[in-house]
Amino acid sequence: MAGYTKHPEFDAHEQVLVRHDLASGLRAIIAVHNTSRGPALGGCRMWPYPSEAEALTDALRLSRGMTYKSALADLPLGGGKSVIIGDPRRDKSRELLLAMAAFIDSLEGRYITAEDSGTSVADMQTIRTGTPWAAGVCDEDPHGGDPSPATAYGTFVGLKAAVAHKFGSTDLNGLRVAIQGVGNVGFHLAKHLTEAGARLFVADVFEDNRTRAVDMLGASPVPADAIYDLDVDVFSPCAMGAVINDETLDRLKAPVVAGAANNQLQTPDHGDRLHRRGILYAPDYALNAGGIIDIAYQRQGKSRTDMLAHVARIAGTLTEIFERADATGQPTYRLADRMAEERFRRVEAQVSLAS
Ligand code: NAD
Repeated sequence: MAGYTKHPEFDAHEQVLVRHDLASGLRAIIAVHNTSRGPALGGCRMWPYPSEAEALTDALRLSRGMTYKSALADLPLGGGKSVIIGDPRRDKSRELLLAMAAFIDSLEGRYITAEDSGTSVADMQTIRTGTPWAAGVCDEDPHGGDPSPATAYGTFVGLKAAVAHKFGSTDLNGLRVAIQGVGNVGFHLAKHLTEAGARLFVADVFEDNRTRAVDMLGASPVPADAIYDLDVDVFSPCAMGAVINDETLDRLKAPVVAGAANNQLQTPDHGDRLHRRGILYAPDYALNAGGIIDIAYQRQGKSRTDMLAHVARIAGTLTEIFERADATGQPTYRLADRMAEERFRRVEAQVSLAS
């Protein structure tokens, strides 16, 4: 794809490809950010982007994020992402998914796709009929295809590490946690926290999801916009991105922010401001890596026990981030980026030395 190296989100991406397939109506982009640790794994997002330029922005940004997430989780994977321009409820067809499969197949395994917003396990099964490079498909898999429980477990162990660092105890009994979004991940996280004795406050724009957490777990319901103002120990964003922003940051009373949502900081400046306020921020992609770990283990046919042991290591990664942040006076989000970069750049250096 010409000209993308001048894009503001370009970050030495290895490869960016565009495919227009007139017969099926497919318009898609695949961005491969970095493959020094292994093939680029990242979901396929289908979204009615208003323009190809906005789709490219998303693909560049999300693929870079996957490199950092997999490196920090110590997986033998690089970072990539694909986007299909279109409305998943209106424009998706078998022909379009098979054209996408052919596009993915043309990279011969440098990029492996999986589910993301707008694509489902069923879509991955269709794509898998046209290419072996689709994950999260389930087949005869012993863990099942849905990575949300593993994401929630990783978020739980990481949240516990954050609480230990801030309050000096791993005992969650009586800890007050406000969860924003009790969907797939948030509800599983809420179950772990309830079992550990935490007191939960939950907000969700879907009434049925909020009611499920209230009825099944005894959580206290909170109106969606009031969740930021609660006097709690932990604020756990598990819904949308950019929720730490100019409007919400000064309202937070929780000394710890630890949740599963991707891209919680609207800008890096919001991470600096959390740091200056003395709020301990558990970097989102360190905390929510359980899903990608699960998908990597599913692909290799490894056991659920081994997968869960790897997910549990998120706690140690978080503790290392917090300790290095304390030692250097740097915000935690920057330390996470630095640690991820050390991991994928070290491999790059070894490759360039050996060749
Ligand atoms: P989901 O759609 O199942 O759940 C999200 C919930 O948030 C929904 O119930 C939705 O109604 C609610 N919500 C949306 N806007 C809200 C708002 N303003 N206030 C309160 N609630 C709101 O999604 P999920 O799979 O649980 O993912 C949650 C977050 O975690 C996302 O940011 C996702 O990118 C991230 N994540 C998920 C996984 C995974 O394995 N599913 C892995 C890594 C990261």
